[in-house]
Amino acid sequence: MTEHLKGRVLLIDDDPQIRKLVSGCLVSAGYVVQTAVDGLDALTKLRAGLPDLIISDLNMPCMPGRELLAVVRKRFPQIPVIVITSDAPDGMPAGVAADAYCHKSGFGFEQLLETISDLTRKPPLRTAPPPVDNKPVQARWDKNGDYIIYCEDCLREFSVPRVLHMGRDEKRTICLYCGKFVHFLVAEHSDGKQPDAAHPVIVLLSPRCKNQGG
Ligand SMILES: [Zn+2]
Repeated sequence: MTEHLKGRVLLIDDDPQIRKLVSGCLVSAGYVVQTAVDGLDALTKLRAGLPDLIISDLNMPCMPGRELLAVVRKRFPQIPVIVITSDAPDGMPAGVAADAYCHKSGFGFEQLLETISDLTRKPPLRTAPPPVDNKPVQARWDKNGDYIIYCEDCLREFSVPRVLHMGRDEKRTICLYCGKFVHFLVAEHSDGKQPDAAHPVIVLLSPRCKNQGG
């Protein structure tokens, strides 16, 4: 009755041909495949649920594979990663956070399936981090007085004009890069100084934690 499904794979490549080819192969081998067109799209897909394995290209627009894989290694280190690229003919480029490597012109599907099977069958290479606390992030100010906000989803910083966010307590905005709602706090004396004992930051629990992790 239960279908024999081997696992869930997230495949990230900006080339529609590669997505079609590789996902077709994986589906016929029994994997559930989700695809993404670049790193930011992949982060959106990861919000909906984590795969058992990620296959990613390196050279992509918006958020290249190298940056995406650094985000994955930090936020989801338990997920094994295979890089498929045409950029590096001599093997895994230095500094890429991946567990296996295939050159686009040189790999066969059997080898790919074997690598996936190896990586997903053995115990996790790394442990999952503790759940995120969902506390709002503390905004900084730049010299123009704009808020500088760190997005804990894409791990990029972006700025928001302060005029749009008057007041002193918790604010929400959308990450300019990945579209995630970000809850942030600012101190009352928004003059570019860090909060201190005389001007404490009021920490409010973020409503978005209610529906997460369950
Ligand atoms: Zn973001």
